[in-house]
Amino acid sequence: MAPGAHVLIAGNWKMFKGPAEAAEFCSALRERVGDIPSIGIAVYPPFVSLAAALEALAPSPIRVGAQNVHWESEGGFTGEVSASMLVEIGVTTAIVGHSERRQLFGESDGDVARRAAAALEGSLDVIACVGETEEERERGETEAVLRRQVESLVEVVGDPGDALVVAYEPVWAIGTGRTATPELAQGAHAFIKEMWPGVDVLYGGSVKPENAEELLAQPDVDGALVGGASLEIESFTAICETAARTRS
Ligand code: PEP
Repeated sequence: MAPGAHVLIAGNWKMFKGPAEAAEFCSALRERVGDIPSIGIAVYPPFVSLAAALEALAPSPIRVGAQNVHWESEGGFTGEVSASMLVEIGVTTAIVGHSERRQLFGESDGDVARRAAAALEGSLDVIACVGETEEERERGETEAVLRRQVESLVEVVGDPGDALVVAYEPVWAIGTGRTATPELAQGAHAFIKEMWPGVDVLYGGSVKPENAEELLAQPDVDGALVGGASLEIESFTAICETAARTRS
């Protein structure tokens, strides 16, 4: 979380927006919400659009991050990018452990923890994603899954300080239009904070302008990781404005 910010709104663009579209979106974003001092805002474009986003957002406080980062600084790791490479172009933050990485690309808890530790060591802030699948929730395993995922991060990272935030993203709520109820999100966030004192926790999973206020009003919800609704300027700025109103 940026110093002085009370809440973080992060937009995960997934595999959307090439450089031209990213530049256009970021210029509009800077004009619309580039001067709200009380909240942190960050966007996470695809790797190829990072430079365009950085250029369009400078010199605003809106941050630009990568959607993943490797644990080695260089080597034979085709398709991967290291923290030092990201820092070299001006990136200051990265997501690790998104459920799409875990589910579609087989990233394990250990991989995610290694990525988080390397990013922090390389001076990147980190959003580390955790969350249960629908089947795990139905089997009553939500807490066990969160415990396993969070403990593997704690083991490697230790004190999260201000540089790492967890994003609780129930997999059944990502890109489905099904949002966790505010009470369910609050319960999961409180559980994570009990396991990892001092950590801030974002909620992710179909956050939209219509449900942002009730989610952000929960005492242990420290912001939002927004996927689909971060791709449209109207919906993303509406969520940022709601955060500023609700949490300032
Ligand atoms: C995400 O991709 O992290 C996410 C939460 O997506 P959506 O908001 O579309 O559910």
